[in-house]
Amino acid sequence: MAKIVCVLYDDPVTGYPKSYPRGGLPLLQKYPDGQSLPTPERVDFEPGTLLGSVSGELGLRKFLESQGHKLVVTSDKDGSNSVLDRELSDAEIVISQPFWPAYMTKERIAKASNLKLIVTAGIGSDHTDLKAAMEKNITVAEVTYCNSISVAEHVVMMILGLVRNYIPSYQWVVKGGWNIADCAARSYDIEGMTVGTVAAGRIGLAVLRRLKPFDVKLHYTDKHRLSAEVEKELGLTYHPSVESLVACCDVVTINCPLHPETEHLFNETLINKMKYGAYLVNTARGKICDRDAIAKALESGKLAGYAGDVWFPQPAPKDHPWRTMPHHGMTPHISGTTLSAQARYAAGVREILECWFAKKPIRNEYLIVDKGKLAGTGKHSYTEGNATKGSEEAAKFST
Ligand code: NAD
Repeated sequence: MAKIVCVLYDDPVTGYPKSYPRGGLPLLQKYPDGQSLPTPERVDFEPGTLLGSVSGELGLRKFLESQGHKLVVTSDKDGSNSVLDRELSDAEIVISQPFWPAYMTKERIAKASNLKLIVTAGIGSDHTDLKAAMEKNITVAEVTYCNSISVAEHVVMMILGLVRNYIPSYQWVVKGGWNIADCAARSYDIEGMTVGTVAAGRIGLAVLRRLKPFDVKLHYTDKHRLSAEVEKELGLTYHPSVESLVACCDVVTINCPLHPETEHLFNETLINKMKYGAYLVNTARGKICDRDAIAKALESGKLAGYAGDVWFPQPAPKDHPWRTMPHHGMTPHISGTTLSAQARYAAGVREILECWFAKKPIRNEYLIVDKGKLAGTGKHSYTEGNATKGSEEAAKFST
């Protein structure tokens, strides 16, 4: 019998939904590169319902309890007296989502002497100290591809929202105004602009494909160059360095994981290499950008706009400067937790757990760390190390 601690975000302030705006979800056959969707033996939830909040329990309770396991679900994750901290000592598995991450620091991993598996219900396992997980031979797995397209759609929305000045224009309507000049004074077309992505993995490539019909010039940089066929099909310009990419782009979108190579990559030095009046969209991880350098660049006009849904730490403290800086289009971390995505990552977590308890291998593409080293997607997209430093600040949100 195993104890599983599952950290999920809170239910809606109005309570767990009794109904939904739409009847169901479209049926997808496979992911764009041919990878199959999650293949658990079965699921005990209805796709299209809220699974990522505490009452949704990722649809796992019936399955786990029927096998004699103990499931603890909580949103109380930060600070040394949190439910997460109190339940860790005998937990075998910890599950959390990047939207409301259980920061699995070296100190927490040291306290959890029975811990063998850390699962990310989503994509991006930077909230776990991967170095500490390697040292303790803990497997780290995530549900690769489950919300990559959800994020790509959000990126396109945010690029258009910033460049066309959507949010301030919407606010004039709500305020009862008809202030055309106020709205138009910061509004442009993206047609003809140069748009570049830092990383062209599952999300970055999907963003490039979605932007192609807008008649923009598409650029990218990545550690792994795309095939010549894809570069030709999309008319891509490849840059061997992020510096050369940002120097020519009107819009930059960040789509790489957070790991030692990318932590604070967008600092004052790199931002100064960007074009004056560029837009920056970051749905990858908050810590890839230097918090204060972003706010300063918006205040000076160096950046014309910044949008994204990722912060550090999460939840972001009430006084985080990205809540109040000018010309931003921030959302809380939501792009990868649409009801559509939740059905996929809940099924993916179930698949991972079924494999784990049956002692069958977890799919290689789901692995980040295994047998003491980076594995699968972890080996392809991360470098060894720890990006959780400073995560204890998340406890400030509640105060
Ligand atoms: P992926 O593994 O398919 O792609 C990652 C790409 O980043 C790879 O092509 C890799 O080569 C590249 N890369 C890594 N380090 C780099 C570096 N230093 N410079 C340039 N390229 C580098 O992953 P994905 O599905 O595209 O997701 C990417 C990231 O997006 C995740 O790790 C996560 O942090 C973030 N994400 C955010 C959300 C959200 O809800 N906002 C959801 C899913 C993923």
